[in-house]
Amino acid sequence: MLDLKFIRENAEAIKENCKNRNVRADVDLVVELAGRRSKLMTELNELRQRQNDLAKSIGREKDPEARERLIEESRTFKEEVPKREAELAEVEASLYAEQLNIPNMTHPDSPIGKDDTENVEIDRWGEAPDFGFPVKDHVELGESLGVIDFDAGTKTTGSKFYFLRGDAVLLELGLVRYALDRITAHGYIPTATPDLARDEMLVGTGFIPRGPEAQIYSVENTDLSLIATAEITLAGSLADEIVPETDLPVKLAGLSHCFRTEAGSHGRASRGLYRVHQFTKVEMFAFTTPETSEETHEEMRSIEEEIFRGLEVPYRVVDICTGDLGGAAYRKYDLEAWMPGRGEAGEFGEITSTSNTTDYQARRLKIRYRKEGGRPQLLHTLNGTALAASRAMIALMENHQQPDGTVKLPEALVPYVGKDRLEPLG
Ligand code: AMP
Repeated sequence: MLDLKFIRENAEAIKENCKNRNVRADVDLVVELAGRRSKLMTELNELRQRQNDLAKSIGREKDPEARERLIEESRTFKEEVPKREAELAEVEASLYAEQLNIPNMTHPDSPIGKDDTENVEIDRWGEAPDFGFPVKDHVELGESLGVIDFDAGTKTTGSKFYFLRGDAVLLELGLVRYALDRITAHGYIPTATPDLARDEMLVGTGFIPRGPEAQIYSVENTDLSLIATAEITLAGSLADEIVPETDLPVKLAGLSHCFRTEAGSHGRASRGLYRVHQFTKVEMFAFTTPETSEETHEEMRSIEEEIFRGLEVPYRVVDICTGDLGGAAYRKYDLEAWMPGRGEAGEFGEITSTSNTTDYQARRLKIRYRKEGGRPQLLHTLNGTALAASRAMIALMENHQQPDGTVKLPEALVPYVGKDRLEPLG
């Protein structure tokens, strides 16, 4: 959420930013409501002041007639004050709801573009493998090995759910532990979070309201939702707190399941494990001072690259354009892995995403820090995927497949999986 004073003073720049980010928000209405709110607050203060003065005068007044007149006058205040208070509450609720629709400001270097087709490649690592045998995609590999079972997932839960069996279970556990080790080496503290969060945490992190992009499963008759990412619980863990500056940065390595409704996404591009309703993820999350957030963002991106270089998966880095930034990110980088089984002859597919959300989440969640002797001020929050297991498995299985249909594991992963190859079940 942006600061109200900032919105009132920069309305034109904010409208331009909304246009660039393809976000519908009524900036004029926010400015108007903010004006009404200030006016109402001033009026209310004056009314209350007048009421207090009258009460004192009534106490002092000796003349019964004059006293009666003052009492009569104070009755009108008794009615007027609650009326104005209700009006103010209504204006504040509308203002907050509208204010939530305004996205974060954008880094001056983020490319301007309408959607993901205009993201800009800024780096690339590794070569697409030259197999010399017919390439299988991860669905064929997983099913022929008997280690990924989409039928059982569909039967028990629904389409886009899956069972992992045998070596795929060892692979998922190995990937998670490998990623945790990589990021704890950079000071991130392992943190297993709940898979559910209160809706106020989803609002605080910018997942509600999210318009057509809403991905959230809510639990009926509660204020709980299944988390789409541990970003929600990790950010929420410091809600309403003031952190001493000496404790910053706070760097957390979140482990959770993630749940997404993925409404409206079908087709070949989301085949198999690519776009599922539930997956396991290791998430980096950092609380920093405003001065160090950009540096931490670059660090998250380089850790993501380190993780996928270790897995010997070719990838490219893309700088996300304005139209694809969503609500909260000030700047965002994605890593896209080469997936040999995707499309006609292999394609890049997103495997990680890291965002600097500056103070956008901190303002909503009221997370502040205090410099020694100073006043509390908002800190910055950042998130980055260390490893989303289902997509990492796609990249790994497809890039390291062997002519016999087994999958040879990269050296860095062997100690974590406890074997050097994924083999048929049984
Ligand atoms: P996001 O939080 O949307 O930036 O996603 C973080 C990472 O999670 C992405 O880079 C993907 O690797 C993975 N991911 C996102 N959505 C899905 C999904 N529906 N199924 C599988 N993996 C996903």
